[in-house]
Amino acid sequence: MRLLVVEDEAKTREYLRKGLEESGFTVDIANNGLDGLHLALEENYDLVVLDVMLPALEGWDVIKRLRDKKNIPVLFLTARDQIEDRVRGLELGGDDYLIKPFAFVELLARIRTLLRRGPAREVEQISVGDLEIDVIRRRVRRAGVRVDLTPREFSLLQLLANRQGEVLSRTQIASYVWDMNFDSDTNVVEVAIRRLRAKIDDDHAVKLIHTIRGMGYVLEVGERG
Ligand code: CA
Repeated sequence: MRLLVVEDEAKTREYLRKGLEESGFTVDIANNGLDGLHLALEENYDLVVLDVMLPALEGWDVIKRLRDKKNIPVLFLTARDQIEDRVRGLELGGDDYLIKPFAFVELLARIRTLLRRGPAREVEQISVGDLEIDVIRRRVRRAGVRVDLTPREFSLLQLLANRQGEVLSRTQIASYVWDMNFDSDTNVVEVAIRRLRAKIDDDHAVKLIHTIRGMGYVLEVGERG
């Protein structure tokens, strides 16, 4: 079994390498996100251990770009004060996470579980009412009619659909879809939602994208105040 460890702290990196090699794994090391991404794309690993806070390219960006191409199990390492990050990590396609500092036996147990489980199963199709999203082909149909979306609109719709019924704030949406933080007074998200709505909802009596005043947006079948 071949593992890739992406970690910038020399001490942790060596600790991981030594421990994993002693446990019978072949271990490659990257000490920044960019090198980690390149290795993960070029080589064949059974699993990637990925630190979140990394120079050159953060763990989030590594997994985003990795997930476009490959479906290897990824175990995130995250600091305790970034606990909310775990949600984001799993959302972006991380398979599990471990909070630093962790016990090596715990890490080993998680790695073995993920390796047994194999690659994460991709969700191929998301349905919300009569809206169908083909995630693999990036195609959308509403009531059987094809809807053409820009890549950005598709990402936005996919995010809302993945978390249907959950209210997402503008800031959350901005950080997922645009991969950056906007000031809360920006209307970039609002404009994008309006465009998406025109394509998804305008021709239909049943609306799927709802504005929750002062909170954000939710995708679901049924009325919201
Ligand atoms: Ca780090």
